[in-house]
Amino acid sequence: MEKIVFVINSGSSSLKFQLMNFPTEEIICKGIFERIGGTSMDFTMNFKEKNTEVINLSTHKEAVEYLLEQIIEMGIIDSLNDIEGVGHRVAHGGSTPDSQIVDDQVIKLIDDLSIFAPSHNPVNLTGILAFKEILPEVPQVAVYDTAFHQTIEPEYFIYPLPYKYYEENKIRKYGFHGTSHKFIADTLKETNPELKKVVNCHLGNGASICAIDDGKSVNTSMGFTPLAGLMMGSRTGDIDPAIVTYLMRLENATADKLDAIMYNESGFLGVSGVSNDARDVEEAANNNNERAQLAMKMFANRVAQTIATYAVDLDGLDAVVFTAGIGENSNTMREAVCEQLSILGIELDADKNEQNAEWIQSDNSRVKVGVIPTDEELMIARDVLALTSN
Ligand code: ADP
Repeated sequence: MEKIVFVINSGSSSLKFQLMNFPTEEIICKGIFERIGGTSMDFTMNFKEKNTEVINLSTHKEAVEYLLEQIIEMGIIDSLNDIEGVGHRVAHGGSTPDSQIVDDQVIKLIDDLSIFAPSHNPVNLTGILAFKEILPEVPQVAVYDTAFHQTIEPEYFIYPLPYKYYEENKIRKYGFHGTSHKFIADTLKETNPELKKVVNCHLGNGASICAIDDGKSVNTSMGFTPLAGLMMGSRTGDIDPAIVTYLMRLENATADKLDAIMYNESGFLGVSGVSNDARDVEEAANNNNERAQLAMKMFANRVAQTIATYAVDLDGLDAVVFTAGIGENSNTMREAVCEQLSILGIELDADKNEQNAEWIQSDNSRVKVGVIPTDEELMIARDVLALTSN
């Protein structure tokens, strides 16, 4: 029997949605509300063809009401009762290892964790509450970006701070992008089960790497927050922590100001001065912009170093996978990363790399190198189905 699942990714000023059909896993329609919070918003719906309109609504809840009206009016589904469940991407689930059906306790958990993810959890919750109110009979499922990493051992997730900050304040590595890393882990388990020790590089605007052993996360580069690890579009990634206190004194800056510098003004944008978008930086680098070239080199080096570190954590390496915007599309970046990893026996086939082929290693390479498009929405929908059919 056909089952219809909604997938929701709600951000501070946007709400992305996708309606999926199971068991075929086909996308029925998808779209986005943008500029939520003003006096009007842009509504883009991709069903048969792509249409954008400006609508005079202002809140997430109004967007959800409008969306549900539209999918009936446009004849996309016959009745809202046909919806099996709604899956919501939630940034922070603390130490929760799996997706959960939303109840009062789950709502409290997401709310309590807002102190750790202030720009994500509150808006994720807004989306959940809007659907819960309008569709009270339909199960809502919270799918956490942190869940996949809860198999990481303490020696990797504890920070060398006084231990009381872990015990009393829950300061530890949580890791993010878990839904994407799990998608790659599950895909490989199905298509290439012989590949046990895998390093997955999710390189998008936000970027993180995950060491995967037999389908489980054993380490990951994001940490207590999504600021940690790799340099990103506009985030620093790891820096000497003393720079933070030094800058606070130097600029007489508040914690909020420092957050703004580290989250919004750093990374590709901060180093290159060109853009937070890797395409723009790559283009500027090709046009001999030296700071853009520097940013590209720094990013590639950090990715390569992290892959090498995780080969140690995994005690071996069968495959490296590249995914997300940069990973799936930039053959230049993949080459810049892999040419630093010949010590691990990694060698690319230049033609296959240029063609974004599924496997891009040369015949001599000791390690396979894959390019696999991630699909977080599909992963969320699968979790909804698994939980609601129990
Ligand atoms: P997010 O979901 O975090 O916004 P994406 O996975 O969509 O990120 O990735 C966005 C990044 O991918 C941007 O930096 C963009 O420039 C980069 N990207 C997309 N296509 C290409 C390409 N062809 N070459 C280089 N970078 C690309």
